[in-house]
Amino acid sequence: MQVLEIYQSKQGEGLWTGKYSVFVRMLGCPLRCRYCDTPYARSDSFDPENSSIGADLSPDELAGRVLLLELPHVVLTGGEPMLSPEIVELTKLLKDFDNVITIETSGIIDRPVICDLMSISPKLRNALPPNASLQEYSRPDIVQQLILRYEYQLKFVADTPDDLPEIAEYLTQLQGVRADRVLIMPQAVDTETMHRKSDWIIPFCEEHGYRYCPRMQIVWYGNKRRT
Ligand code: SF4
Repeated sequence: MQVLEIYQSKQGEGLWTGKYSVFVRMLGCPLRCRYCDTPYARSDSFDPENSSIGADLSPDELAGRVLLLELPHVVLTGGEPMLSPEIVELTKLLKDFDNVITIETSGIIDRPVICDLMSISPKLRNALPPNASLQEYSRPDIVQQLILRYEYQLKFVADTPDDLPEIAEYLTQLQGVRADRVLIMPQAVDTETMHRKSDWIIPFCEEHGYRYCPRMQIVWYGNKRRT
């Protein structure tokens, strides 16, 4: 498995905000979101200029490195962690040692992983680079399968108030979504922008029973890698 970095930090987003966790950042992603905050994790192979600690590890080796850090919560992120079929074996190994597993995914790939929280970030039009199609970036059919099988949160990234009707429209394509598992996160890499956008996101959340989802890692650490 192509792993870019393994580090400890506090979870900054979503239902488990504040949990100290081991973060495993996988390399590679089939998407090219306009607002991507981890472009260094999208390449198809290691770049020695940008990834000094990347490694190609078997699921066994990777689980061993995670266990050395002795934290129960593990966040598999990327890039797109569901890209590698070996994630299935990795999650089995981690669960054998009672790890609590979060997978941070765009929801365009389904695999029979073991997972305590499937953290899905469905893409809206605001993510699309020029000439990309929404069908390529957004797979509500796959998201539906994931939310039927796992504990989940749906994390939407809102850039402008125009994104809110699109979120509501997206959700009409899914069955049985719990409103309190719908999280709206401001597209922001600094606290000032985040607070400004909260002015229109919070009333929308209150109206529909959704949750406002600040990016607390930016509040705690600034816009820094490995946080
Ligand atoms: S899915 Fe995530 S890692 Fe991939 S391009 Fe989009 S924001 Fe970046």
